[in-house]
Amino acid sequence: MTERKSILIYIEHADEHVADVASAPQARIAAVASAPQARIADVSLELTGKARELADQLGRASGGTYEVVGLLCGHNVEALADDVIAHGADRVLLADHPELADYRTLPYARVAIAEVRRLEPEIFLIGGTHNGRDLAPRVASALRCGLTADCTDLQIGDYYVKKEDRTHKNLLYQIRPAFGGNLIATIVNPGTRPQMATVREGVMRMPAADATRKGVVEAVTPRFEPGDFALEILSRQVRHSTVHLKDAPVVVAGGAGMETAEEFDLLRDLANLVGGEVGASRAAVDAGLIGREHLIGQTGATVRPRLYIAAGISGAIQHRAGMTESSKIIAINTDPDAPMHQIAHYRIVGDAAEVLPMIIKALRERSMAATASEDEGEAE
Ligand code: FAD
Repeated sequence: MTERKSILIYIEHADEHVADVASAPQARIAAVASAPQARIADVSLELTGKARELADQLGRASGGTYEVVGLLCGHNVEALADDVIAHGADRVLLADHPELADYRTLPYARVAIAEVRRLEPEIFLIGGTHNGRDLAPRVASALRCGLTADCTDLQIGDYYVKKEDRTHKNLLYQIRPAFGGNLIATIVNPGTRPQMATVREGVMRMPAADATRKGVVEAVTPRFEPGDFALEILSRQVRHSTVHLKDAPVVVAGGAGMETAEEFDLLRDLANLVGGEVGASRAAVDAGLIGREHLIGQTGATVRPRLYIAAGISGAIQHRAGMTESSKIIAINTDPDAPMHQIAHYRIVGDAAEVLPMIIKALRERSMAATASEDEGEAE
């Protein structure tokens, strides 16, 4: 196999959750997708930063140069390319066409497949968004290569194949939980290219933007086929997300140990007091105590707040996958042996329904005392 020297990232320019009502001539189909917005989705910038790291590592290991290339599809989106370059790309392939104004599987897949065939990248990374999860398998199946969904880490390493008695150098280690999260699997693809993976938002760190970075924007001409437009978008409803877990400095999360809606309100009170967001475990979401948009973990959001308060959460590996990188963790749990206590910086063994009101009361009293002393200061 010839050595390919690039890493391709699918660049998505949408961060809104948009419900698209679409129709096909043959049968009416409802689909949910994201609409193009005037900014690059965070996950694409996070992946561009990760690709930069991997490309530099591959370059050092092979003595060559690996290029990071972003594939940006849309209409009137050229201005967004600079942001991709600022976050680590050397080149942006710009497929700007009116038919790409809204995400639709077939036209977008047509462009992605053509560009992968032309560029022959070693690695192709796609954000694990609604659109990315739709696009990635279609591209992988057309190219007959593997795809690992929802990776929690990406690394470069070697892999020995016994039956070939050969070590494949510098493969992409696609790392993700497997078997219900009981194992962390490292998946490699020695046989086909590109090595494809999707990664959810927040899993990779956002790199700092460097506006002085230079890169090339290369226009590419999509070559569609008539069948690509079987799906027509009739109308769109935009639903703005009100939960901002990823950027919250404090997350106050509750689990199955918070048994009632009233107990969950304590989490909201505490979050409001400290300027944080409310998070939840899967068990709490499944019990209907809170909406799925608050879910943290392997199948929810990944957060890295300065403070994470876990109340009545056991600390299953799937939950920890979304919060272990928090700077400080406070666990409130009746069970002293709960796994959450093992990773917490501060452990409170007790009933969350009793402990949380005490914390809220203490914070309120402190804030009232601070206001009173400020008032006294002003009066003097
Ligand atoms: P439990 O495990 O039931 O724990 C409740 C805890 O509360 C216990 O530790 C108990 O001691 C404590 N407690 C009870 N009463 C009180 C009280 N009054 N005060 C204080 N503490 C109390 N889970 C996620 O959270 N996020 C995910 O993304 C996720 N993805 C998954 C993906 C897969 C493929 C699978 C198989 C599972 C996934 N799960 C996920 C589920 C996960 O395995 C756990 O089942 C879930 O996290 C448990 O939630 P919990 O800790 O709230 O509930």
